[in-house]
Amino acid sequence: MRALSRKTKLRTVRNSDDVKRTAVVAGGAGFLGSHLCRKLLDLDYRVVCVDSFLTGQQRNISPLLRNHNFTLINSDIVDALPVEVHVDQVFNLACAASPPKYQEHPIHTMQTCVTGTHNLLRLAETNDARFLQASTSEVYGDPHVHPQPETYRGNVNPFGPRACYDEGKRAAEALCYDFKESLGVNVKVARIFNTYGPRMLADDGRVVSNFIVQALKGEPITIFGSGQQTRSFCYVDDLVEGLIRLMNSDETVAEPVNLGNPTEFTIVELAELVLQQTGSKSKMVKRKLPVDDPKQRRPDISRAEELLNWQPRVSLAQGLQSTIDYFAKQLGQTEAKRLEIA
Ligand code: UDP
Repeated sequence: MRALSRKTKLRTVRNSDDVKRTAVVAGGAGFLGSHLCRKLLDLDYRVVCVDSFLTGQQRNISPLLRNHNFTLINSDIVDALPVEVHVDQVFNLACAASPPKYQEHPIHTMQTCVTGTHNLLRLAETNDARFLQASTSEVYGDPHVHPQPETYRGNVNPFGPRACYDEGKRAAEALCYDFKESLGVNVKVARIFNTYGPRMLADDGRVVSNFIVQALKGEPITIFGSGQQTRSFCYVDDLVEGLIRLMNSDETVAEPVNLGNPTEFTIVELAELVLQQTGSKSKMVKRKLPVDDPKQRRPDISRAEELLNWQPRVSLAQGLQSTIDYFAKQLGQTEAKRLEIA
């Protein structure tokens, strides 16, 4: 186990017969990042996880600290990066992704997207490593084109409360392509649509975790606005598989690639499914719709299908069940207690 403070420099010597790949996962203690770290270790990578623990959780990666191929660096990517190992791949997943969380520290969100991405791109450049940017469906804003193909340029409010994230992620994409054009860095850009699964934070603020936790506690299910707005929910295992395929894709795969599940649901439909699967008797209550909340979202995944031979496999019903089981355990609920609430 190695857990390093931000000041610690990490050095390893690379033997010429060493065939293991080393990946840096920035944001590796977060929801998505921790699933990616585990998968990469299973695939026999060495993993250097960089996390500031702003939204990342120690418990997401605690079991990995026993693995001698896993290193944790407690650092913010906005600061200088104390990574001095040879690196083959850099995954940039470091940024709060839930609207209430990224809006809590908007200036830091923008700095993470721009300065943080710049620092990681420099790391990739000096190591001649591949770089994967976790971009987002938010680059399409409140889309007028539906479903959203990668060629759609979006409808983003540049000064609304979501701008720190939406515009930050758009700037980060631009920076990736500047590094590719000017310095020859092999960049990959994944536009990630709503993803859910075990190890989301219970108070994360996103719709899937909110609804499941509310249902399990027997509290009202908070529907923002009419609940007729749509999202398309991708299970985390499918998403991680897409990220790894994209990172290892052919050099010619350079354009952004949508990764998400194209099956679309209204928010009320999601609430109904959660109620049905938890057996909860919670009631739906209406709350104010957040400013600039996109009305519809569904990925066109033809590019991922064609270039990566990738498609999501887990249905919302299946993925919700694993996520419900996870939160029930987190909340210390047995099946019996859940039935009492219901
Ligand atoms: N939402 C909701 N109730 C909640 C949380 C979110 O109705 O308790 C809605 C939100 O207004 C949005 C959708 O669910 O229309 C997805 O929200 P989320 O924050 O998960 O992600 P977004 O796709 O907006 O980034």
